[in-house]
This record gives sequence, structure tokens and C-alpha cells, in this order.
Amino acid sequence: MRLSPVFLLSATDASHFPDRAKTFDAPEIAFLGRSNVGKSSLINALLGSREAKVSSTPGRTRAINFFALHEGAGEKKKIRPSLIFADLPGYGYSKISRSISSEWPKFIEPYLASRETLALCVCLVDTNIPPQANDTQLITYLKQTQRPYLVVGTKSDRVSGNVLTKSIAALKREHEVDEILIISAKTDTGIKTLWAHLMAVAEPQ
Ligand code: GDP
Repeated sequence: MRLSPVFLLSATDASHFPDRAKTFDAPEIAFLGRSNVGKSSLINALLGSREAKVSSTPGRTRAINFFALHEGAGEKKKIRPSLIFADLPGYGYSKISRSISSEWPKFIEPYLASRETLALCVCLVDTNIPPQANDTQLITYLKQTQRPYLVVGTKSDRVSGNVLTKSIAALKREHEVDEILIISAKTDTGIKTLWAHLMAVAEPQ
């Protein structure tokens, strides 16, 4: 099925989050991860569109960027979106600040805690680096708050089979998760499987 993305807005404060007039209360999927994990590359690969390139737009990197995904295109585009994507700011770039809470803008936690339409959190972890404490912190928070989540291992094209297997095992062990979906925005590995997970939360129109 073809989904057409429409950029809704960039929120820098909880009061800016789009309401039902814009989202029609469609199920929302949040994309979370450390800076440089490959989040904008993944969103671009998913949407295949210039719409997602907002992450590199100055001023939008510390905001939550919301997109509405509509079934159909052009005149056949449905008014009510099937899904909303929320692209959250990357965390943990500096090695000094290891904790999420010390550096995340104040609106991230309110978003995760209160967003009623949030149906799935896609947590991106880099398969090229050892498990990171701030990723564990986020995943633990999601478990504790009973938010549905899916852990996705990025940049899998950069590592060879055996190294990748070991890296995934370490990530599963450290983050205490049963499954990690391996993807590459460069080769498109795992993108179809990821779409299947995302469409599973979309409401039939
Ligand atoms: P963000 O900060 O999380 O939005 O990360 P970006 O999408 O900007 O990616 C950070 C860097 O990783 C860039 O240099 C990308 O080209 C690279 N990158 C992202 N995804 C992949 C991937 O699947 N494979 C490879 N080899 N590099 C990637």
C-alpha cells in the first residue's frame, strides 16, 4: 500500500503537539535513538521522500517532528491519516552526558508519558558500537511505563555476519530484549519487515 507523507509540524514544547484536528487520533509511531544512530536515514528509507529530511534542517533537530501518513496519493489521498510518525530528537551525542534525562529537552518525557495515541516506540540502536547505557535507560523506561516498543539495529551493512551476530547478542543481553530487528537504510535490509510491524499498528480505513 502506498502512503503519502505530509509534514505536520515541529514541536519544541508539549503544548505544540498536534491535536486530533490534525492527526484524527490516528495511531502514532515514535522514532527514538542516539544522535547519529541513522534515524533520519531510516525515516527517509521508509518514506522514500524529501519530507523526512527535516532532521537536518537547522532548528528542527531539537524538536519533535510530526508527519501524517495518508493512504493513496494525489486526489485519491484519504483525509484521515493511517499513521502518524513522530521523529524525536537524538540523544547522547556527547560522551560526557551518559544519561538521557540530563540532556533531553523537557518535552520528551511528557511526550512519552502522556501521548495517548502513541502506539509504538521504534528504538534505534547502532549495531556497529557496543550497547550504550542511555539506550538501556530508554528501553527500561518504556518497559516500566508499558509502552509498546520495537528495538531496531541500524547500519547492519557495515558489519560482517559473525561480528553482526555477536553484536546483536550483546545488544539483546545488555538491553534485556528478546528481539532486535536488523536493518540497513543503505541496502534496504529489513525495511519491508519493519514496514510490516508499523502497518500492524495502523487502523484499517
Ligand atoms: P541520525 O543522526 O540518527 O539522524 O543519523 P543519520 O541518518 O544522519 O546517519 C548518521 C550517519 O550514519 C550518516 O553518515 C549516515 O550516512 C550513516 N548511516 C545511516 N544509516 C546507515 C546505514 O544503514 N548504513 C550505513 N553504512 N551508514 C548509515
